[in-house]
Amino acid sequence: MIERESLMTLSDGIRSEVPMSFTLFPGTRRTLALESLAGLSVGDALGAQYFVPGIKPADLLDARVPEPPWEWTDDTEQACCLVATLAEGDFDRDAFAALLADRFEPYRGYGPGAVVMLREIREGLPWPIAAAAAFNGQGSCGNGAAMRAAPLGAWHADSLAHAATQGVRAAEVTHAHPEGIAGGVAVSVAAAYAAAARLNGHRPDPGRLLLAAAAHTAPSVVRDGLTTSVRGGVAEAAERLGNGGQATAQDTVPFALWVADRYLDDFPAAVAACVVAGGDVDTTAAIAGGVVAAYTGLDGIPGDWLAHREPLPAWLAAASGDQSAGG
Ligand SMILES: [Mg+2]
Repeated sequence: MIERESLMTLSDGIRSEVPMSFTLFPGTRRTLALESLAGLSVGDALGAQYFVPGIKPADLLDARVPEPPWEWTDDTEQACCLVATLAEGDFDRDAFAALLADRFEPYRGYGPGAVVMLREIREGLPWPIAAAAAFNGQGSCGNGAAMRAAPLGAWHADSLAHAATQGVRAAEVTHAHPEGIAGGVAVSVAAAYAAAARLNGHRPDPGRLLLAAAAHTAPSVVRDGLTTSVRGGVAEAAERLGNGGQATAQDTVPFALWVADRYLDDFPAAVAACVVAGGDVDTTAAIAGGVVAAYTGLDGIPGDWLAHREPLPAWLAAASGDQSAGG
């Protein structure tokens, strides 16, 4: 557990380092969200390639990538639904639930619990009931709320507090368990912090992004992971924090955000770290990729990686009113 005093001190430090005095116009918010989505989707699609037999993680360290097309998975599909829902004011949970249920394609790698829940919502069950009933009434602590959250945070680059409160709203549509919600909040805040740093033109010191996320995340295993000291490299981080192998928020989010913090200005290195760590690679790479791209923008994503990724769904470009959404 992080101590109250140190948390307050760290929060003060975060505030002074990222004053966030700028004004964000709707078009800027949308651009930030779409660029985060681009990073999320490339991380997801490339990460998913390493579940294909014969494709070796070590090749990526030598900048050798799999043959296209790289198909995106449930992480990207849900994030597209989220981006299509983004608008001024509180996040529209009813619209988001309806989109998730309407657009979901089960073969995209959804977990069994998500398939059941989204089918129930599609058939008319209100989302609060479907979410609360999941996992015998405990609610889901899966990493689904976290995997889609980065563009929401980028949209709220002017306020970590808003990124946190809206992160709760977006998570609760499918995740009623406190850990599942904490995972979504932590990723949303991390992406907001990354986008704010981009706008401020200042690369945060290592560890700052993790502390910002922790400062706005409720006490939880997820938050404990964000404040766990990792002195070594990727292997130690995965060993101590988990690599998403259990597909829970707790064993996914701390590692993915550790990667984003460490490689905030190096998108290829962030994705490679997730790939070599193994586990739920498409999701750790989607989270790290979405947060890192909130900092680097599209320029940080290799052009051939973007080109190799399966195009984003055409309905997203129509819904977001921006043709660049498909790019
Ligand atoms: Mg996936």
